[in-house]
Amino acid sequence: MVSSLADTPPQLPGTRESDWQSAGIDFPELNISGCERLVVVAPHPDDETLGVGGLMARCAGLGISVEVVAVTEGEGSHPTESGTARSDLVDTRAVERERALAELGVAAVPVRLGLPDGDVAAHEPMLMSAVESVLRAGSESTWCLAPFRRDGHPDHDATGRACAKACNATGARLVWYPIWMWHWARPEEPIVPWVRARSINLTDAEHSAKLAAIEHFRSQIDSPDPERPPVLGAHVLEHWTRTTETVFP
Ligand SMILES: [Zn+2]
Repeated sequence: MVSSLADTPPQLPGTRESDWQSAGIDFPELNISGCERLVVVAPHPDDETLGVGGLMARCAGLGISVEVVAVTEGEGSHPTESGTARSDLVDTRAVERERALAELGVAAVPVRLGLPDGDVAAHEPMLMSAVESVLRAGSESTWCLAPFRRDGHPDHDATGRACAKACNATGARLVWYPIWMWHWARPEEPIVPWVRARSINLTDAEHSAKLAAIEHFRSQIDSPDPERPPVLGAHVLEHWTRTTETVFP
């Protein structure tokens, strides 16, 4: 059986950050010299920041065009909310993302596709053509940062697959970024392409910008109800607040 987030829901402790650190997650440094345009495709508002916020800050600082494609508006992060509360959540999360991107130095307004949170897989062909039109007839100098297609969350996996097809069609360079993999996978997990892993060692400024950006996602970090844990607990945030980021080019 293939492991996924379903086997280790976010509330569970999952793989400890100390386990990753002792396993060793230092990989060869990612060479971004060929990148002239970075398109980060995020299934939910915050994935772009958690996964590659530091890389986005670096590219923006170097004058590389950084764009975000927002697949869903993340309206399903608090599943028991009423219809009105869900539309408030859409607005809240959009504002959080806008503030986070500002911390990262990203000025471009995200392309918002508005696909249903939790049901991206049912819209995969539409997502593929939407990403394709953003990438246009790109070349290797356009990099598409997509969730790792075995990240374990159905929306992440569907987005990863759609981006892979869009890159095939346009010639853009595909680079996976993991999110939930850090939570459910073990360091020896065989479906993770460890040999392709590359590190982005963040400077202090890049790391600080990323931490400041993450702080804006209050709807995910704080719990509105003392009876319920926050969507993103401290045990998972530890993975995303490291001084390094990991991608699979
Ligand atoms: Zn997500």
